[in-house]
Amino acid sequence: MGVDGVYARTALYAHVVERLESYITRQRDPTAEIMRFPPVMSRKQLEKSGYLKSFPNLLGCVCALHGSEASIRSAVDRYDNGGDWTSSVTSSDLVLSPAACYPVYPIVATRGQLPAGGLQFDIEADVFRHEPSRSLDRLQSFRMREFVRIGSPQVIVEFRESWMAKAPLLAADLSLPFTIDVANDPFFGRVGQVMAVSQRQQALKFELLIPYYPSAPPTACMSFNYHREYFGQVWSIHDDKGELAHTSCVAFGIDRLTVALFAIHGLDLEKWPAVTKAALGL
Ligand code: AMP
Ligand code: ZN
Repeated sequence: MGVDGVYARTALYAHVVERLESYITRQRDPTAEIMRFPPVMSRKQLEKSGYLKSFPNLLGCVCALHGSEASIRSAVDRYDNGGDWTSSVTSSDLVLSPAACYPVYPIVATRGQLPAGGLQFDIEADVFRHEPSRSLDRLQSFRMREFVRIGSPQVIVEFRESWMAKAPLLAADLSLPFTIDVANDPFFGRVGQVMAVSQRQQALKFELLIPYYPSAPPTACMSFNYHREYFGQVWSIHDDKGELAHTSCVAFGIDRLTVALFAIHGLDLEKWPAVTKAALGL
């Protein structure tokens, strides 16, 4: 669409996305509460979530022309005369969501103490990360689906373990070659390197990686994240015993999985493996 990492989706692509989404829906826990978020979220909430400490380089902020009619007019006039209208914009109270799950924690916090057994969510949003690239597996705007679990530590650890055990079955259904490995988030800067090492040492993040073609460097298509009590602390979420809630999310990179399906099985859906067609209902 004229900018690296931003793509229009064809009907064929959108069809596979839709089938993949409904396959993922069938894997959902029946107690999960469904929430769909827009591609923007509260700037204050994301700041409070600590995003600027970890990934300030990836964040996109919504800016707008806020001034009087005269000042807005002068910015537009500047553009008309070959100048830059964007020098007049200032930030709004919105950012582009960099991951689907950030808005759910403050919503849960408003409900008070968690019920026994905690809560589970099925969440989705189109997200933005400022990492322009010409590579088909690194988009700036992409769809993220997440199953999020909020509760006491034992429940959370079980949730993540059960999803990591389930992931190979998903990959088998989709006939995608994969590995699962411990991972770290791309924390910003030198301090970030220390955070990344600590995240790995504690095994807080795992990824399901898929090579798009034989010998390709594998692409992370799903992640299994354990945040410990981080979001519980930030938003004062407590479990039914009054302890700080722990949280975990399992993220499906919908675009990365869809591109993997096309890269590995080809553009002709008829020729896809029978198990994949059956799993996706194609
Ligand atoms: P993360 O929060 O970094 O674990 O991201 C969750 C999932 O989103 C990853 O496992 C990828 O499948 C997907 N993802 C992350 N970054 C990108 C990107 N730049 N382009 C496309 N998909 C991405
Ligand atoms: Zn998440």
